[in-house]
Amino acid sequence: MDENPVGVVRQRLSVVRTALLRIVLVFVVAVAAGAAISPVVGLWLAVLALGALLVVHTYYVGLLGAWIDNPRLEDIPTGWGAWARVFAGLYRARRTSERDRQRLLDNEERFRRTVSALPEGVVLVDPALQIEWCNPTAERHLGIALLADQGLRLTNLVRDPTFVDYLTSRSYAQPLNFRPLAKPSLVLEVMVVEFEPARSMVITRDITESERVDSMRRDFVANVSHEMRTPLTVIGGFVETLLDSDPPLDDIRRHHVSLMQEQATRMMRLIEDLLLLSSLESDQRPRVDDVVDAVALTRELGDEARALSKGRHQVVVEPSIVAVRGSRDELRSAFGNLVSNAIRYTPPGGTITLRWRRGPQGAAFEVEDTGIGVAAEHLTRLTERFYRVDKSRSRDTGGTGLGLAIVKHVLLRHQGGLEIRSTPGSGSTFSAWLPTGRVAPDPVGGAQREREAA
Ligand code: ADP
Repeated sequence: MDENPVGVVRQRLSVVRTALLRIVLVFVVAVAAGAAISPVVGLWLAVLALGALLVVHTYYVGLLGAWIDNPRLEDIPTGWGAWARVFAGLYRARRTSERDRQRLLDNEERFRRTVSALPEGVVLVDPALQIEWCNPTAERHLGIALLADQGLRLTNLVRDPTFVDYLTSRSYAQPLNFRPLAKPSLVLEVMVVEFEPARSMVITRDITESERVDSMRRDFVANVSHEMRTPLTVIGGFVETLLDSDPPLDDIRRHHVSLMQEQATRMMRLIEDLLLLSSLESDQRPRVDDVVDAVALTRELGDEARALSKGRHQVVVEPSIVAVRGSRDELRSAFGNLVSNAIRYTPPGGTITLRWRRGPQGAAFEVEDTGIGVAAEHLTRLTERFYRVDKSRSRDTGGTGLGLAIVKHVLLRHQGGLEIRSTPGSGSTFSAWLPTGRVAPDPVGGAQREREAA
C-alpha cells in the first residue's frame, strides 16, 4: 500500500479517471452508432448504454456491501473495469492485514510458550492486582489456576499476610522471601516488575534448596558462636583474675596477660556480632514495631560519639526528625555502628556530624565524618562480611569487620538501605535510609522541639 498522501490521491484519481473515460467512451460510441440512423436514436442509445453501466456499477456496489458485512479474504469478489482494480486493492490490503494479525498471534503464542517453559512463575496482573494471565509454574507455586482464577485479585487467592503486605506496599526494590501457608515446605522469592503503567508482572522463584543450605550455614555459625561464648567467658574471667593477682605479676607477664585479655575481648565482640548477624538473617522483618523517639535516639548517639571520641573530635548533632517506626534495638545498633566507624576512621581533630535527611523515598540517619574516606572501588563491597579496606587499622581500632554487614541487614529488614558517599582523604557520609511508611511526618512546631534536642 502506498502510505504517501500524494500517492494515495493520485491512485484514487487514476481509478476515477478510468471509470469516467469508460462512461465518456460508451456515450460517444452509442451517440455515434445511433446518429447513423438519426440523432434522436443516437441519444436514446446513449441513455440505454449509460443505464446499463449504472446497473453494472450498482451490482458491484451491492457485492462490495455484502463483502464488507463479512470481510473474508477468500470471498473477495472479482470485478470488471475499475471494479477489478478496487477489488484487487482490497484483496492486497486484506491479505497484508491478515498476515500481520497472524504474525502478532504467532508472536504472542511464542511469548506464552516461552514464559510457560520458564522455571520461574510469572503472573501478569492489572493495577487492582487482578490476574490477567499466569504460567503453569506460577499456578504450582501459588496454588492458583488460570482458567478458574483469571480476573480475580491475586491477594484474595494467596492470603499470606507477608505476601499481601508486600504486593500492596508498592515498594518492590527488594524481593520478598516467604513460605506459602498452603505449601509450608516451599520457600519462594517474589519480585514485582512494573513494566507498563497499567500492568505488573509478579515473578516467583523456588529458593527452597538455597534457603535450606543458607539456613544450615546460619545455624552452624550461630551454634559455633554460641558454643565458643562459654569457654571464652571462662578464659576472660581467669585472665582478669591473673591481672588482679596478689602478689602482682611482673611487667613482662602483665604485658602478656593484658594482650590475652585484649584478644579475648575482641573475640567476644566478634562472637556477639556473629550471633547478632545470624539472628538478623533468620527473620526478614523485625519482631517488634516500636515508635522510636528519633530525637532521643539521636541525642543518645551523639553522647555515645563523644564518649568514644574522648574529646579527640568535634561532634555536631543537627536537628532530628520526630520519630520512626521499627525495632528500637536494631536501629540503635545499626546507627551506633555508623557512629563508632566514623570515630574510628577519623583522625583526631576531625568533625563527626549526625543528622537526619528527608528525601522522596523516606528519611535517612546520616553520619558524616572528615576522616580517611574510602576509595570508590571499595564502596560496593564495604557491607560484605569481613571486608575491610585496611585490615590492620580495623583490628587496631577494635573492629570485627561485621559492623556494616549488620547495618545493611537491619536496614533491609526495615525496607530501607545504606547509601555511602566518600572521598579518600576528605571524609565519608553514611546514610541509613528508612522508607516513608516508617517515618513520622514533621508536626507543626516540630522544628522547635528538634532545635531543643540538638
Ligand atoms: P570494621 O569492624 O572493620 O570497621 P565494618 O563492617 O564496620 O567493619 O566496616 C568495613 C570497612 O569499611 C572498614 O574496615 C573500613 O575499611 C571501612 N569503613 C567503614 N566506615 C568507615 C568510615 N567512616 N570511614 C572510612 N572507612 C570506613
